[in-house]
Amino acid sequence: MQALYGLNDILLNGKNYIFGTGVHALAVTSSFMDMGFPFEGFVSAHEEDDGSSFLDKPVISLKTAAENGANILITEHSWHRIYELVYMMIPADRIFVHTDNQLLTDIPCIACDHPFTFSGNAFFSDFLKERMIKGNVKDTSIQFCPRCGMYFSAYRPDDDEMDLLYSGYRNEFYQKQRQHYESWYTPEFNRELYAPKDGGVARKKGISDFLKDSIDISSCRKVLDFGGDKGQFIPDEFANADRYVYEISGTETVDGVHMITDRSSLGGFDWDLILCNQVMEHLSDVQSYFAGLVECMNANTYLYIEVPNERIHENIDIRIIHEHINMFSERSFRYLAAKNGIKLIKSVTEDANIRVLLHK
Ligand SMILES: [Zn+2]
Repeated sequence: MQALYGLNDILLNGKNYIFGTGVHALAVTSSFMDMGFPFEGFVSAHEEDDGSSFLDKPVISLKTAAENGANILITEHSWHRIYELVYMMIPADRIFVHTDNQLLTDIPCIACDHPFTFSGNAFFSDFLKERMIKGNVKDTSIQFCPRCGMYFSAYRPDDDEMDLLYSGYRNEFYQKQRQHYESWYTPEFNRELYAPKDGGVARKKGISDFLKDSIDISSCRKVLDFGGDKGQFIPDEFANADRYVYEISGTETVDGVHMITDRSSLGGFDWDLILCNQVMEHLSDVQSYFAGLVECMNANTYLYIEVPNERIHENIDIRIIHEHINMFSERSFRYLAAKNGIKLIKSVTEDANIRVLLHK
């Protein structure tokens, strides 16, 4: 990607399209025209817009733009959520970002170590301001990594702040404190997160459906749910295996699941499968946690990681930073795996979750 400060040969000789067909595209078109930028039309993320028009100019889809070798002009207004779509389809050297501010920062990516990430305005939610940072002013921003597609909070909470947030997590006080700021966070909603009415059937089925094509579940003898609360989300298909949870919250396990609280003992087991469900989106130090998981693996261990997919959902405003300070892509895990000498052997991005399976 390149910052767009003036005309250059690529733009003079290329087919340039302004990203978007909405109010922002409307607002910036006149400034592009004032600056004398030649442009053919507009580009839309929606394939069905291909062949339509906007401001009497043609609209093409990103797919068509990719096929035609078009240059894409992005405005800083549209960076949020949009970069990712564009970066998935258009080579980086054909993307131009028009900006008055310094959007590109030297904050490295927390997943893949890419030395530059984009920065967008963001702030901590009111709930986090009270519970975690105790009213202190902590500036943050939302960063986007153009290499692996990771979004993350620039401010990384320290150990004390993480303790404030997660000790007594989802207990009655937590629920009340959160509902004060977020009215939808009712006691019922809270309970559904750790003790769903369906007994976690849907969540467990999601895991076993993903795993069963790649792993012989019946041959798994030892299964560890790393940070797995009570072990209530270990799929039923593993009922004949020795099932363990590593958890330091002091909670009780469900029937048949053993608790491990001593982190240093984890490497002494011959794990067939390690599960890490809905944890990594919360962590301050993603790389050391991932390396810790890999340390527990032997040559035959499979590692399953699941995180929520919150990246380009219309209903999630990633400028408000909440407990999920990391928003991974499948590619983020590919880089984490490579750095730690393991392989990503399967991955999927669903509406709600991203699932990856790793092996040495
Ligand atoms: Zn990255």
